[in-house]
Amino acid sequence: MTSHSPDLNVARRAAELRRAGDEPVDVLVIGGGITGVGVALDAAARGLSVTLLEAEDLAFGTSRFSSKLVHGGLRYLATGDLATAKESAVERHLLMTRIAPHLIRPLGQLLPFAPGVTARQRAAGSLGMAMGDVLRVRARTPRRFLPPPRLVSARTAQRLVPALGHAGLRGGMLSYDGQLADDAHLVVTVARTAAGRGARILTRVRALELRADGATAEDVLTGERLDVRARAVVNATGVWAGSLDESITVRPSRGTHIVLDAADLGDPSAALTIPHEGSISRYVFALPQQHGRVIVGLTDEDSPGPVPRVPVATEGDIAFLLTNLNRVLSAPITRDQVRGSFAGLRPLVDTGATSTADISRRHLVAVSEKGFINVLGGKLTTYRRMAEDAVDLAVDTAGLDAGPSSTASLRLTDTAVAVRPGVERGQVTRAHIDFAVRSEGAMTADDVLDRRTRVGLVDADRERQRAHVESVVAEILSELS
Ligand SMILES: Cc1cc2nc3c(=O)[nH]c(=O)nc-3n(C[C@H](O)[C@H](O)[C@H](O)COP(=O)(O)OP(=O)(O)OC[C@H]3O[C@@H](n4cnc5c(N)ncnc54)[C@H](O)[C@@H]3O)c2cc1C
Repeated sequence: MTSHSPDLNVARRAAELRRAGDEPVDVLVIGGGITGVGVALDAAARGLSVTLLEAEDLAFGTSRFSSKLVHGGLRYLATGDLATAKESAVERHLLMTRIAPHLIRPLGQLLPFAPGVTARQRAAGSLGMAMGDVLRVRARTPRRFLPPPRLVSARTAQRLVPALGHAGLRGGMLSYDGQLADDAHLVVTVARTAAGRGARILTRVRALELRADGATAEDVLTGERLDVRARAVVNATGVWAGSLDESITVRPSRGTHIVLDAADLGDPSAALTIPHEGSISRYVFALPQQHGRVIVGLTDEDSPGPVPRVPVATEGDIAFLLTNLNRVLSAPITRDQVRGSFAGLRPLVDTGATSTADISRRHLVAVSEKGFINVLGGKLTTYRRMAEDAVDLAVDTAGLDAGPSSTASLRLTDTAVAVRPGVERGQVTRAHIDFAVRSEGAMTADDVLDRRTRVGLVDADRERQRAHVESVVAEILSELS
């Protein structure tokens, strides 16, 4: 196989865009979220020629608004969805041990036995964690990657999460799951890995119409139309899938997180898992992050109507999260301590269920009436399996000459240590901006602030650095063009 550079930038985009209308490619992918870039990588790794079109920037949609957990499917066990739970555990295993050990760490998650958590909730939560560990064992994930769950004392619980209330605290149950340093970074890394295998990754190109053998698209920057011909076409546009295939009804569900200063929770070293009041299957999580932040999520709200470009958290969502978090803290977190918030739309396939929380998280891969393939649903953790299924179907349907998927053992490309997204104290350095623009396809200051680093999650940090980032981005872009 010819080797290509994984670097994405405006010069490469311009050159590849000029050739996009020439020869037909084997696989045309629409959408540059985790699903689309996963499909592009799976196909390119089989030696197929690939073009991917993304209307905005990589990770512009739902993929950057997740809880950033690579989870073993505990939550699906709770709803009786064993197949999804098993699939999650297997994919978590592959991601943590082979594909992306450099991007994922084990994260302790504490279910506190606090006065706000009933005996039934403690028992159900502990049983779920034990069952989740059976999935870990069956997926053969060693304990050194994910230690098994264990009971901890009140003292240990408070050491892990210092903001927990002491009165009546009876310890807790501690279990482990995978945590991504950053979800948008995973998307960009998968895209770079695909580009390293020859895939053309074209951002700011919107597909207007899909067919079995190609798409009509528009370069968003110039308004120019182009026709891309392909042997197989895969629609991986998430919540927007219905805009390219009217036979699909997506039922978006809004998931909101709030961003807090980790210091306000005593700089926790483990996540908190708090059952919703009166529930044994739904939880609010407080998850420690980079930049000295904690994100608290998440809601599951039906969000009908036109799909917004960027969804917004409501005051109701924020109040709900604070109320649940405060049930177990010694001193409540107030609204003015909330540093930022973000919301994402789950691309759930409409099944007629009464609540979006009851719709299966398993993915859908199917040939549409027009002959292209739709891949939808699932989650970040299972992107590789979704991609494998979609490319298998593309190979079968279009009779492509390709072997089986090789992504289960394909390690994602690495990023120089100096520019990993762990931007200390929310400070974007020149090295970060340089790498983002020359190698990660960033084209604007927003791309850098919101998707190559996550400084933009806190408005005050974003505004403080905007002018600096804008001027460095402009300088590097002029060197590249
Ligand atoms: C709040 C929340 C928390 C979550 N937490 C987790 C978690 O912790 N772990 C986990 O595993 N999963 C989690 N998930 C699920 C996971 O985030 C999603 O399943 C996944 O990100 C969906 O990715 P996608 O690529 O299918 O969609 P998207 O990321 O939305 O990508 C679709 C892309 O298509 C592009 N597009 C749209 N129309 C066009 C067009 N016409 N032409 C070209 N491009 C187009 C969009 O710009 C977008 O970039 C969470 C989801 C939510 C909402």
